[in-house]
Amino acid sequence: MEQKLSKETLCVQGGWAPKNGEPRVLPIYQSTTFKYDSSEQMARLFDLEESGYFYTRLQNPTNDAVASKIAALEGGVGAMLTSSGQAANFYAVFNICEAGDHFVCSSTIYGGTFNLFAVTMKKLGIECTFVDADAPEEEIDKAFRDNTKCLFGETISNPGINVLDIEKFARIAHRHGVPLIVDNTFATPINCRPFEWGADIVTHSTTKYMDGHATCVGGAVVDSGNFDWEAHADKFPGLTRPDESYHGLTYTKAFGKMAYMTKATAQLMRDLGSIQSPENAFLLNLGLETLHLRMKRHCENAQKVAEWLEANPKVKWVHYCGLKSNKYYELARKYMPDGSCGVIAFGVQGSREDTIRFMDHLKMICIVTHVADARTCVLHPASHTHRQLTDEQLVEAGVAPDLIRLSVGIENVDDIIADLEQAMERI
Ligand SMILES: *Cc1c(COP(=O)(O)O)cnc(C)c1O
Repeated sequence: MEQKLSKETLCVQGGWAPKNGEPRVLPIYQSTTFKYDSSEQMARLFDLEESGYFYTRLQNPTNDAVASKIAALEGGVGAMLTSSGQAANFYAVFNICEAGDHFVCSSTIYGGTFNLFAVTMKKLGIECTFVDADAPEEEIDKAFRDNTKCLFGETISNPGINVLDIEKFARIAHRHGVPLIVDNTFATPINCRPFEWGADIVTHSTTKYMDGHATCVGGAVVDSGNFDWEAHADKFPGLTRPDESYHGLTYTKAFGKMAYMTKATAQLMRDLGSIQSPENAFLLNLGLETLHLRMKRHCENAQKVAEWLEANPKVKWVHYCGLKSNKYYELARKYMPDGSCGVIAFGVQGSREDTIRFMDHLKMICIVTHVADARTCVLHPASHTHRQLTDEQLVEAGVAPDLIRLSVGIENVDDIIADLEQAMERI
C-alpha cells in the first residue's frame, strides 16, 4: 500500500513525482499544444476514449500537477484549476444547473459570488435563494424546490467571518437529494477539510492564502467523488444522460467517481475556457509549498491582534472566531481546532469618517483590494468591494457599514499592532 502523506508533506511534495532524470521541480509546460504520432490517436483523445493532453484550454501538465496537489490536500478524487475564484464558483454550480434550475445559498458570502449568483446567473435562467445559514434546519428546508440542484456556503465567510455549520448544511442538502458545495478559500485545507464533514464539492479562490503572495488570480474546483448522481438521476441529466457533444457518452457511466470533474473539463472548460495559465499554476504551486507554515503564522498573529483589538477602548466591536466572546467560537473549535484564518472584522468608535481616518493613517498596513496574503492589509467593504449592495443587502451579507476587514499577514505581530495603535490614536 502506498504511504498516506500528511498535509504538510503534500504541500511540499504533492502533485509532482518526477521520474528518473526528470526535473525535481515542477516544470512550466508553456505550450498550447501537444504532439501525437498518428491522427487516430488524436481522434481518440477528442472522443474522451483515451486520456492525454492535446490543447491547454482543456488540460496542461503543469496545471494538472497543481490541481492534483489541491485535490490531495482536500482529500478529493480530482480537481481543476480555473483562471479565478469567480470562474471556480461559476463552474461548480453551472456544471449541475441549467436554465430553469434553482439553487440555495448562504446569504453571508463574498460580494463577488453574491453578484454572480443573484444577478448574472439569473440572466442565464438560474435562480438562487439566499438563506440565513444560522437559521434552524426547518427554516432552510423551506427554500428548497423540486428544481433545486445544490446548496452553497463558505467555510468562513468573506468578509463577515461567519463560520458555516458544514455538517448541518450537508444534512440539509442530502435530505433534498442535492450536493453541498463549500467555498473553502479562507480556511484552506490546512485548517478545514469540508469533505470530512459531508461537503461534496469544494471551491477555492487560490488568489488568497493558497497563492499567498498576491501574485496570481486563480481558482480551483475539487470533487470528493462522494455524491451519488445516479441515485438522483432525474435531477442531474447532464451527468446521467448521454452528452450529444461527445457522441452520446454518459459521464457517470464512463467515468464513475470522476464524472463531475470530467464534465466540468470536457464541457465547461472546452466551451467557456477560463483556464489558468501554466505560469500562474507554477507560481501557485510555490505558494502551496509553504501554505502549512504560513497558515499557522497567519492564525497566531490574527489571534494576538484580535485580542489586542478587543481590549482597546477605541474599538467598538471585533469579530474573529478565535475569540471566546465570538458567536462562532464553538463552531470554529469544532471545524478548525488548529486555527481558522488571518482575517478579522472590526469597527472603531465614532463615525464613518473616523473609520476612514483610521485606515488612511495606517503606514505599514496598506489599503488594498485584497485579502489573505503575506502582507497585512485593510479594506472597508461598504466603500469598496460591496459598494454595489444596498444597506439592507449589506446587513444580510453580514457586512456592517462600519466593518473594517483586516487581513493579518505573517510579519512580526508587534509591528502590526504598533501600526494599528498609532493610527488608532488619530481618532
Ligand atoms: C476572493 C474570493 C472569491 C473570488 O475569487 P477571485 O479569485 O477574486 O475571482 C470567491 N470566494 C471567496 C471566499 C473569496 O474570498
